[in-house]
Amino acid sequence: MTGFPFRSVLVANRGEIAVRILRTVREQGLTGAVVHHAVDTDTPAVRAADIAIEVTGPSPVAAYLDGDQIIEAARAAGIGAIHPGYGFLSENSGFARRVAEAGMVFIGPTPEAIELMGDKVRAARFVAEHGFPVVPKAVEDDDPASFLARARALGPPLLIKPAAGGGGKGMRIVRDLAQLEAECDRARSEAQRYFGDGRLYMERYIERPRHIEVQVLGDAQGNVIHLFERECSIQRRFQKIVEETPSPALSPQTRREICETAAGIARAAGYRNAGTIEFIYGRDGFYFLEMNTRLQVEHPVTEAVTGVDLVLQQLRVAAGEPLGFGQEAVAVSGHALELRLYAEDPARGFSPTTGRILAWSPPPGVRVDAGVALGSRVTTAFDPMLAKVIVHGADRAEAIAKAQQAMHDLVVLGCRTNAGFLARLLRDPDFAAGELHTGLIDEKPALALDEPIDAETAARVLGLAAQALRPIADAAGAAPALHRAMGGWRN
Ligand code: ADP
Ligand code: ADP
Ligand code: MG
Repeated sequence: MTGFPFRSVLVANRGEIAVRILRTVREQGLTGAVVHHAVDTDTPAVRAADIAIEVTGPSPVAAYLDGDQIIEAARAAGIGAIHPGYGFLSENSGFARRVAEAGMVFIGPTPEAIELMGDKVRAARFVAEHGFPVVPKAVEDDDPASFLARARALGPPLLIKPAAGGGGKGMRIVRDLAQLEAECDRARSEAQRYFGDGRLYMERYIERPRHIEVQVLGDAQGNVIHLFERECSIQRRFQKIVEETPSPALSPQTRREICETAAGIARAAGYRNAGTIEFIYGRDGFYFLEMNTRLQVEHPVTEAVTGVDLVLQQLRVAAGEPLGFGQEAVAVSGHALELRLYAEDPARGFSPTTGRILAWSPPPGVRVDAGVALGSRVTTAFDPMLAKVIVHGADRAEAIAKAQQAMHDLVVLGCRTNAGFLARLLRDPDFAAGELHTGLIDEKPALALDEPIDAETAARVLGLAAQALRPIADAAGAAPALHRAMGGWRN
């Protein structure tokens, strides 16, 4: 028996976030279900679920985006609630509405809140109308004929963004206004390709800014609280790589302002469930950027310092329960860092990599949210994030030291990753000093270059590789050749 009006939760997602959500679902005594495309049959998410429902489509991604098929399958399986995770259907108001119409609980905000706050242009207008600071912008749809003139009037540098965009895709910086028209044409065709929607808007580009966001939580009774900030300034191509909390940049006064602004925005929107308000923080202060009306990739750092299980809160609030605690009960303890492990090769322009995971040894003693395991196939069909390593220390220095140890302990073979890059970043003096901004990685190309591997590490890695390889090699009938090849360094 549980206090929830549903007995099962279907995760309409894959990878590490499906595993993460299933953990809390099952801890609550609920039945955990997951959808999966055939290519994901042999994954930790499917293994973690009580029920696995196969979905099909013209491509694996298309299967996870097929809301109607997922709802139909959920209904047939007698599922009580659907959690969309992040990406895919998580910010699709039509999906949220159809889940409810099918008699299931959508674990997320109302369709109306997704329509308002999940639309970047509408959300910014709403936020500005309520008197909160927003980056100066020109929106094409307001009057297409005067779009370029209005953008020029903002003054360079400018940032072109797709109105229907997300995940940092299709954004372009324009420093020379003579290039504005040509850059808009490029951005438009990119936006059309990624999002099937070529509409654009432009913002003043804030130089060397920080990305600071605030976790909010609201219930159906109208209570809204915040769970403090996360700093996500370590980015590449507008995508986050390392996140932390508390932000080393905020004074207690600014922290209070930014957190109360975020809660105020969520309150004005009548927001319920978990959401994140993103701000760009420059020399002149902070501006609203967008709201993500879903659970965020980097939510574990907030969980680490507050002790709040955000997925559990999402389930409770979606079940109609009031928040079980008020703002005054949310306290931050210590410092947390999250490192995103990507299947990519930093030395080759961070291009995506593929392969089979031949050795997987996650660092002991820290939280690792992983979507892969030994034997997993990494392809380019999905987002290249393999896992997240989350550390918690008494202060920032201790958290960095733990992160360094974790990256030292981590072994992943079979697919090149950014693990070495993360380890070098953790040793960077500006990173250590908390002198962060979103261009830091671009300014330090040396971080992307591989260092020669030392003899001890080489031996350890090769030893693990050999152990992991043996069953595969045995199966392939190649064991004798492998043992010969291992020669002198095997012991
Ligand atoms: P977060 O701040 O949680 O990292 P992102 O905006 O980077 O949020 O998105 C989270 C995930 O969802 C990423 O894997 C990203 O690639 C994906 N994503 C977000 N928006 C879209 C979109 N509109 N289309 C496709 N993928 C998206
Ligand atoms: P997405 O939907 O891709 O997350 P965002 O609007 O949140 O789009 O922007 C992604 C990232 O791009 C931000 O985290 C920030 O680094 C950068 N960015 C966005 N807007 C601006 C701006 N006006 N000035 C400077 N950097 C910006
Ligand atoms: Mg964003």
